[in-house]
Amino acid sequence: MPTGTTGDTPQVLLAHHLKQLKLPTVLREYDKVARECARDGVDHPRYLLRLVELELIDRERRMVERRIKAARFPAVKSFDTFDFTAIPGLNKMLVLELARCEFVLRRENVIALGNSGTGKTHVALALGLAACQKGFTVTFTTAASLVHQLMEARDERRLLKLQRDLQAVKLLIVDELGYIPLSPTGAELLFEVFSQRYERGSTIVTSNLPFEDWTSVLGSERLTGALLDRLTHHVHILTMNGDSYRLKQSSGRRRSSNPEQAAEPIRATSETVDPETGEISAS
Ligand code: ADP
Ligand code: MG
Repeated sequence: MPTGTTGDTPQVLLAHHLKQLKLPTVLREYDKVARECARDGVDHPRYLLRLVELELIDRERRMVERRIKAARFPAVKSFDTFDFTAIPGLNKMLVLELARCEFVLRRENVIALGNSGTGKTHVALALGLAACQKGFTVTFTTAASLVHQLMEARDERRLLKLQRDLQAVKLLIVDELGYIPLSPTGAELLFEVFSQRYERGSTIVTSNLPFEDWTSVLGSERLTGALLDRLTHHVHILTMNGDSYRLKQSSGRRRSSNPEQAAEPIRATSETVDPETGEISAS
């Protein structure tokens, strides 16, 4: 019997080597699959093939999970839970086509426009999730948060690094452009992001404001024009105007819990609704 390290039980060494080679699934499965293969009379190449395939499948899953984590989605939402009948004005065919993510490969943009609560963020999240699953890197942020990060990075003299990171991501999602007017510097920095991504990477923007009102957020007409010029050069526009899904849900819940209100029309004024975010504060 050999002594020293080679005298260790092979399982111990194998575990060590497989860890070093970053093959956790092979490590976890090799014994079980060996027994199955022995039982079924499967030869060695096929045994190895089974193990390697399991590792590949797991590795892909781990990478998707890593991309989802790196994207910083506020919630993970998919089209499985999106009810297209709730928003008949939305071009379902276009959305499902976008979910194939070829627009990311083509470095095209998507802009979702519509009033509050119509599912713009949900659609942006679902497109982001699809992109992670297809192997693209994604970053999700809101316009306000992005501008805040840019200003902070500028103050801390690390703006270039942040701009490079924002330029490198395959799909950048900027949610909620329009709720908060930006300072001139903020607008300038946001413009730079879009400008640096122009024809280099895909960007999804959601906004409650029609294009003609974007000047009210960005401040300057000149800047808005230049920004829209870049953003809309290769763009798919999703028009998402309709009833707020949130309001419909909450009044639906109320109706089902209180039959006396069943005949009452949906009235936004009967609840405390934040006109900015559409959030309902009273149930
Ligand atoms: P917006 O970003 O347009 O204000 P959200 O995407 O935040 O709207 O939608 C508000 C809530 O309603 C979210 O919880 C979202 O998942 C849900 N929602 C909106 N539209 C739909 C829909 N068509 N099907 C399913 N859920 C929806
Ligand atoms: Mg939203």
